[in-house]
Amino acid sequence: MADWKDLADLMFPDVDQTIADLEKKYPPRTNATCSRFAPSPTGFMHIWNFYSAFVAQRYAKQQWWTFILRIEDTDQKREVDWAVDLIINYLQKFNVEIDEWPIGANSQDVWNYGPYTQSQRKEIYQIFAKTLIEKWLAYPCWMTESQLEEIRKQQTALKVTPWIYGNYSLWRNKSPEEIMQKLESDSNFVLRFRSHGDFSQRCEFDDLIKGKINMIDNYNDIVLIKSEDGLPTYHLAHIADDYLMRTSHVIRGEEWLTSVPLHIQLFKAFDLPYPQYCHVAPLLKLDEEGNKRKLSKRKDPEADIAYFFQNWYAPEGIIDYLLTIVDSSYEDWQKANPDKNYLDFQIKIENMNTSGALFDFVKLQSMNNAYLSRISTEELYNQSLVWAKKYRPYLADLMQENPDYSKSALDIERHTPKDPKRFTTFKDVDTQLRFFFDSEYEKLIESVKLKIKSWDEEFQKFTEFDMWIVSSFLDEYLWVLDLDLMVEEWFSQLKEIWKKHWFAWNNAEFKEWGYIWKVWDLAMIIRVWLCASTKTPDLFSVMKVMGKSRIEKRLKNFFHL
Ligand code: GLU
Repeated sequence: MADWKDLADLMFPDVDQTIADLEKKYPPRTNATCSRFAPSPTGFMHIWNFYSAFVAQRYAKQQWWTFILRIEDTDQKREVDWAVDLIINYLQKFNVEIDEWPIGANSQDVWNYGPYTQSQRKEIYQIFAKTLIEKWLAYPCWMTESQLEEIRKQQTALKVTPWIYGNYSLWRNKSPEEIMQKLESDSNFVLRFRSHGDFSQRCEFDDLIKGKINMIDNYNDIVLIKSEDGLPTYHLAHIADDYLMRTSHVIRGEEWLTSVPLHIQLFKAFDLPYPQYCHVAPLLKLDEEGNKRKLSKRKDPEADIAYFFQNWYAPEGIIDYLLTIVDSSYEDWQKANPDKNYLDFQIKIENMNTSGALFDFVKLQSMNNAYLSRISTEELYNQSLVWAKKYRPYLADLMQENPDYSKSALDIERHTPKDPKRFTTFKDVDTQLRFFFDSEYEKLIESVKLKIKSWDEEFQKFTEFDMWIVSSFLDEYLWVLDLDLMVEEWFSQLKEIWKKHWFAWNNAEFKEWGYIWKVWDLAMIIRVWLCASTKTPDLFSVMKVMGKSRIEKRLKNFFHL
């Protein structure tokens, strides 16, 4: 009489190793603890996936553990070629260091716990599958789509719990002989787990983030190996990989929480210890009705990590923001330690939010703004140049041709008590720097002139002014303009001239003398004429950076309005 061992040998004749052999090859790690990021290479990285990976990496690294990247490509329909490079690239952009990762399909992995790509681990999964068959804890199943559909209908009609279990599984209780006979003529089967779970039982475990969890036990004979390519499903791969890679902490998205009873059952079926689970709550968004929902890949552009790069956020600003979600004390810590890096902050994953946090753009912008205000002007220049090269090549060229001029322009009022914190994203570098360059200024001022001529509201003052008076003011002003003055001297000189030209100095004079123009209007005119914009940092500082001859050239332009 054939037994389960015979069946296992018939199904996997070439598999002669056991899990004990694998354990020798992949012994416990010397530092005993390790976490991992295990994305599927779909060519898309959800901000939440990155968030979970970041938490896993920080948690490992702050304790000097190992952090590994494993590529979960067993669902080959969803896979795209360049996706692994994309994942590694993003981690590098964010400076998330990895200790072990796949280095390429044809190259040898250089670390001891690989291969780190699941499609290259088929033999390992077969050893695991064979072990379970020998124990009659897994069985091949030939149920067809129509049989599965029929069972679903019966279960719905009887109002019983769905899925494939007990007598609903047509192959669960077949003898080894019956299965061997079927195998002779049909090799198109899936391998199912033979669960001993029972839905009247509960499964209890500790999740490091969620706390004590008590949920219905697994009873489902889930698929372990797929029929189409002989590759494992997520569940079997998770057991084999996280055990052999010696992962101590499985930090993953909350969508896997309900699978933990199954995973614990599987670890027990193999007589293996299971890791510490930590399930990261999702990032949420309010829908139109004000209900919270998960950030969606299909509906929300900000679900894609690429969005933040395309919109010129700094990786450090994004990380600072994500850290405020991980730990609400981070922002205060950051303010109290402006010279420290986030790497000095110890996250406590047991304090993480368990129900999901709303993705808050205002907060993200303020953290990004704080980061860009904190760094040196040299760093701001270097980092914005990287962005400009990709998204505004003309600006990058100008910055590279005029590095000192660009840095002086960026530096205006930074790190002073008056710092207007004018850079929220690197995009602001474009608007704040562009007008300093003559070639760009020419284009911008032409469009301002057109707007004035078409009575655009933003430039209303220009249409109200007596241009002759403004011109004569500017004419005199350019004669005396001295950029070496202190700002106070500069201001009083300006005041003298504008009084002469009948501009009111303040609101009181304005009312008392019944003037048509206030000095602020005049300042705005100069600002627009120098910068082709109504919004600039402190005018005298801008003028100092521009230099007198550039100012003369630009203001003279005004006479040709
Ligand atoms: N490949 C799975 C996913 O992307 C990984 C889950 C895990 O971290 O175990 O959802």
